Amino acid sequence: MTGIQTRGGDELMATRQTVREIHNFVGGRPADAQTDERLDVLDPATGEVLGRVPLSGASEVDQAVMVAAGAFQSWQDEPVTRRARRMFGLQVLLERELDQLAELVTRENGKHLDEARGEVRRGIEVVELAAGMTTLMKGETLDQVALGVDVSLHRFPLGVCCGITPFNFPAMIPLWFAPLAIAAGNTFVLKPSQRTPLTANRLAELFAEAGFPAGVFNVVHGAQRAVEGLIDHPHTRAVSFVGSAPVAGKVYERSASRGKRVQALAGAKNHLVVMPDADLDLAVPAVFASAFSNAGQRCLAGSVAVGVGEIGDELVAAISRMARDARVAPGDEPGTDADGTITPVTTPEALARITGYIELGEREGATLCVDGRGQGQGGGFFLGPTVFDQVAPEMTLAREEIFGPVLAVERLEDLDRAIAAINASEFGNAAAIFTRDGGAARKFVREAQAGMIGVNVSVPAPVAYFPFAGWRGSFYGDLHATGRDGVEFFTEKKVVTSRWT
Ligand code: NAD
Repeated sequence: MTGIQTRGGDELMATRQTVREIHNFVGGRPADAQTDERLDVLDPATGEVLGRVPLSGASEVDQAVMVAAGAFQSWQDEPVTRRARRMFGLQVLLERELDQLAELVTRENGKHLDEARGEVRRGIEVVELAAGMTTLMKGETLDQVALGVDVSLHRFPLGVCCGITPFNFPAMIPLWFAPLAIAAGNTFVLKPSQRTPLTANRLAELFAEAGFPAGVFNVVHGAQRAVEGLIDHPHTRAVSFVGSAPVAGKVYERSASRGKRVQALAGAKNHLVVMPDADLDLAVPAVFASAFSNAGQRCLAGSVAVGVGEIGDELVAAISRMARDARVAPGDEPGTDADGTITPVTTPEALARITGYIELGEREGATLCVDGRGQGQGGGFFLGPTVFDQVAPEMTLAREEIFGPVLAVERLEDLDRAIAAINASEFGNAAAIFTRDGGAARKFVREAQAGMIGVNVSVPAPVAYFPFAGWRGSFYGDLHATGRDGVEFFTEKKVVTSRWT
C-alpha cells in the first residue's frame, strides 16, 4: 500500500510515514479547530496512525453553521437550473476521482477496494438524482378552485441542514444527503465519523472544485459534543443521522425536542431466509457475501441465515466450507476480490466487541462451526468469518446487532416461523428470501416487517431513485434518505391561494 495521493489539500495526505493533523473544512477551505482534543485515526489493516482528527466543540460548530447560514442567503436565490448544473460538474469530478476516493475509503475504513469503488459509485448515483432537481422540486397548481381563485404549491429550501454519518460508508452516506440538500437550495454541514474523517474532507474539496460557493458544503469533525452542538444550534433546520440504534434514538429525541426536522437511520439485524427449493448455487455465495463483505460492517449485511426445513444441513456445510476457504487480507491486497476476502474491521474496539459476541454465542450454546478468532496479521484488526449453527431466535446472537463477520444460522420448520422470527426482531431494515416459488416470495414480500426486501437478492440496497426504507427500530422519522423522500425532507412547501377578479 502506498501513501494516498490526493490532488490538492495536502493536509489530507496521510501516509504511513507521517501523521497529519486533519482540519475541519469551512467556507471553502481548511479551518483550524480550536480544541486540543484529538483522536488518532487508524489504518485498520496495520493499526498505524493515519492522522489526528479534532474533536470539535460548540465554537467550531458555531463557526461552521454561521458560515453555512451566511452562504444560504445567496445560495437559495441561485436559480435551480444553475444549482443542478453544478451537480453535473460534481458528478464529472467524482467519476474522475473514483479510484482515488476508493483508495482513501479503503485506507481509513479497511474495506476491499472493489467494495469501496462500489460505494463511491452508489454515492455518484445520488449526485445524478440531485442533478434532476429542476424536475424533482417542481410544484403543483390547481386552477379555479373558486371563482377567480387559483392555488399553487411551491417547494422552498429549509436553510442549514446537517449530516451526521457513520464509519462504514465514508463516501456514500454523506452523499445520500448533501447533494439533494444542496441542489434543493440548502447549505450543509457534515459531521462525519471521527473514525473515518479523510474521505469527508476530500469530498469538501471536490464540492469546492465543482464551483459550489464557499460555505455551501462544510465539514466539522468530532463526536458527541459536535453532534449535540449541531442539533442545538439555532440556525440548524434539519438533521440527517445514520448510525447505531442507541445514538439514533438520542439524536432523534434531541432534534425533535428542539423543533428540528430529523431523519435518523439506525442499526439492523437482517435475516436471509433460504427455502427448501432455493437454488443453492445462487443462495450460498449470496448469503456469504452479504454476511462477510466489508467484514459484516454493513447495515444491510445478512447476519442471520434461516435454513427452512431440510435445507439446513446443506446450507451450513456449504457456507462453512466457503468460510474456511476465505482469504483474510487487507482491502488493497492485489489479486483478491471483494466477496471472497474478509477485510479487517475498522477499529480495535470493534474487534474486541465482536470477539465478545463470539464468546457469548458459545456460552449460550450455539454450535461454533467456523471460528474466525486469532487471524491477526501485523497490527491490523482482523477477524476471520465466523459461523454459528443451531442458533435459537431468542439467543443474543440472533437478536443484537454484532456488526462484524459473524453469521448466525437458525433452523426453522417453515416459512411462517421464519417470518415470525423476522417480525419478532426489534429491527426492520432488510430481509431476503431465496426460493423458486413465486407464492412463497409473494407471501414474504407482504408479511415480512422490514423496509427493504430481497427476493433472491441478499443485499437489497435500493438504487438512489428509491428511499432507503428501514422500518421499526432501524429508523426514526418519517421521510427516509434518497428518492422522493429525500427531496421532501430537504424542502418545505408553501401553498399560495390567489384571487384575481
Ligand atoms: P455510531 O452511532 O457510533 O456513530 C454514528 C455517528 O454518531 C458518528 O458520526 C458519531 O460521531 C456520532 N455519535 C456517536 N456517539 C454519539 C453520541 N453519544 N451522541 C451523539 N452523536 C454520537 O455508529 P457507527 O459505529 O459509526 O456506525 C455503525 C452503525 O451505523 C451500525 O449500527 C449500523 O447498522 C448503522 N448504520 C445504519 C445504516 C442505515 O441505513 N440504517 C447505514 C449505515 C450504518
